[in-house]
Amino acid sequence: MTADPAAGSGFVYLVGAGPGDPGLLTVRGAKILRTAEVVVYDRLVSDDVLAMATARRRIYVGKSKGSQALDQEEINRLLVNLASEGRRVCRLKGGDPFVFGRGGEEAAHLAGAGVDFEVVPGVTSAIAAPAYAGIPVTDRRASASFACVTAHRRPSQPPIDWTSLARSCDTIVVLMGASRLDRVAGELAEAGLEASHPAAVVESGTLPDQRVIRGTLASIVRKAAEAGIGSPAVVVVGNVVNLADSIDWISRRPLHGVSVMVTRDEGSRGALSSRLRSLGAHVLGTPTIRILPLEDESGLHNAVAGIGSHDWVVFASASAVVHVFGIIERDGGDARALAPCRVAVMGRGTGAALRERGILPDLIPESYVSESLAKALLEKLESGSRIVIFGALGGRDLLARELGAAGHDVSLVSSYRNVPVAVDPKRVEALKSGGVDWIAFTSSSSVTRLVKALGGAGNISAKTRVACIGPTTAATAEALDLRVAAVSEDHTIEGLARTIAQFSKRPVE
Ligand code: SAH
Repeated sequence: MTADPAAGSGFVYLVGAGPGDPGLLTVRGAKILRTAEVVVYDRLVSDDVLAMATARRRIYVGKSKGSQALDQEEINRLLVNLASEGRRVCRLKGGDPFVFGRGGEEAAHLAGAGVDFEVVPGVTSAIAAPAYAGIPVTDRRASASFACVTAHRRPSQPPIDWTSLARSCDTIVVLMGASRLDRVAGELAEAGLEASHPAAVVESGTLPDQRVIRGTLASIVRKAAEAGIGSPAVVVVGNVVNLADSIDWISRRPLHGVSVMVTRDEGSRGALSSRLRSLGAHVLGTPTIRILPLEDESGLHNAVAGIGSHDWVVFASASAVVHVFGIIERDGGDARALAPCRVAVMGRGTGAALRERGILPDLIPESYVSESLAKALLEKLESGSRIVIFGALGGRDLLARELGAAGHDVSLVSSYRNVPVAVDPKRVEALKSGGVDWIAFTSSSSVTRLVKALGGAGNISAKTRVACIGPTTAATAEALDLRVAAVSEDHTIEGLARTIAQFSKRPVE
């Protein structure tokens, strides 16, 4: 096997996608997913992980409604064919590819066919799902060994030796056991484990709808049935289950069980979504716009060509930084294009985008609104300064007007456009029925667009609360008859996420 492929030759990466939480994909896996030309994936690969792929060709080969889309031999053939067409293929499997993932069979087939491949291990659900339920698979106080075993055996395969397992292993993790829980519990009881032996089932581990049922070997089957537990789920049997009383960290997070709709165009890995997720929220990504380059970039091009002739350059948003630098870099330039100028930004996120490109902003206003930036700039400007402001097509022109009124030479340059996208009907339904706890707004335009898509604020359930990043966004929301429950004092993504967490705190019982 060789290392990474030379351009043009086919290569297959057998990548573990992790158990579901996109944050648990490995760095190596994420890189391959971003650069592969074809992604071949299974049922248990989460949408959020798949969303990181840039490949247009995505082939689903998992099970649907009981039947396999492709059988194993067809999958093997598909991988070999794609490689022989010279493709970089990401073969994406839930959890780890070699833990009940048939990754071994695929690797052997590729090797036999002379196809170059690499195995990228993943975080297996056998360890991660218990961990997200506060159950360590080993612990000095309770367990010195763990086994990962399947409940699914064909009659032609040797049976699982439950008696030896029960005798020799402190923690037993059973995969593919959701529908066979009674048989698993029965086998373990017969193998000599006490009826009072602790057991747990973790359904959809690490995902927003994770559920955990805890009990004993005697009670777990009934409890899981009452809760309607289904696949995918892992079963954990052992004294470690009791440690969850003190370790369960997931349900202590401030936004555990709270659903938040994010209307920014930021993809599944965006700053607001990730921050809310890390606070425990179930994030419903619902972009109302996509940020795209201008259809005609000639004006922007001219402005960028003359950028160095200005005393001050103002970036109104991180997207403005992205698109302006896109042009500078396309023309073979770099940050030195701005060397003669001083630079101001509207907010911290915009400042961060600039720093990534090697520029420290000279001015970030105290409050991240046009009024505050205008005031701060006016204090600094010498009379008759030349200023260029890069913003969105059709964005606010308050800053340009105020600076112009003060006698400065100002040009406002559109750098990108916001294009409305249709709101997913499932999200519309969730908003109507009260299935959304919060809507987080980061701009006036997203408020306007969401309300329009819904046909008015009256179509949002009274249970849903609205949070805004700052007063301008809140004023727009109120003008459209939305009741604003929370406005972030700190007009940043971090501030907005914290505000939602503060307002969501359940009363102490
Ligand atoms: N290779 C995978 C396992 C594939 S077998 C891994 O390493 O995780 C499929 C089984 O994995 C399911 O029946 C279930 O038992 C388990 N599983 C996968 N994802 C899961 C999840 N998010 N939560 C709970 N169990 C999961």
